Amino acid sequence: MTTRKALMAGNWKMHMNAVEGCRLAADVAAQCRGYDDREVLLAPPFTILSEVSHALEGKGIITASQNVCWEEKGAFTGEIAPNMVKDAGCSAAIVGHSERRQIFGESNGMINKRVKGGLAGGLLIILCIGETLEEREADRAFTVLEEQLRKGLDGVDGGQMEKIVIAYEPVWAIGTGKTASKEQAQEVHAFLRGLLGRIYEKDVADTTRILYGGSVKPANVNELMAQPDIDGVLVGGAALKADSFGSIINFQ
Ligand code: PEP
Repeated sequence: MTTRKALMAGNWKMHMNAVEGCRLAADVAAQCRGYDDREVLLAPPFTILSEVSHALEGKGIITASQNVCWEEKGAFTGEIAPNMVKDAGCSAAIVGHSERRQIFGESNGMINKRVKGGLAGGLLIILCIGETLEEREADRAFTVLEEQLRKGLDGVDGGQMEKIVIAYEPVWAIGTGKTASKEQAQEVHAFLRGLLGRIYEKDVADTTRILYGGSVKPANVNELMAQPDIDGVLVGGAALKADSFGSIINFQ
């Protein structure tokens, strides 16, 4: 049986100054019990990536940027290059978050460029995908997810998939307090794993981690993590407090 190490990721979005972020990072580190079966990742805003990465040195917590550009340098105002992310002490980047898609108009094509640029720069990429409520109600969730996954991974070969983590985040569950039920989430995760098996090979499908995101809280993390195809979580709101994120990390 394939064992996939759980990834418990916190996305701080546009929250935290340097002092608050370093304090939260230290408090989260204090909650980590040094398990072998899970990894912890924090994604602070760009401005404090260095400080937080530095504060976490030697604590076994991965840091990630919340986006990454496909170019190495140049006239790309507002962007961050893969080398800048690494220079700030991070080894990963989130790409394709629904807020980037919905608020800032990032397309599947642009997200694919970010995925490939981040991979070329040696980063672990968390590729987020998810359907809107309208798409789910119109019975289009699986079509939309398939398109986002296929287009997001276009040109990424099976060998590169060890540096890719997929995050399924239904848009209707992000920041709304509405979580997908464990059955709804498991159904989508199983579908995505099957799709990875069709795009690549079974061993890629078996080893790729698929995270769930959307109002994950201490109260629902255990049942979500008990699902066979849920390999971790991407957490927004509940990652902003060390006690709630600590309870999520320490799921049973
Ligand atoms: C997210 O930002 O990826 C997210 C899932 O947010 P929340 O946990 O607040 O729904």
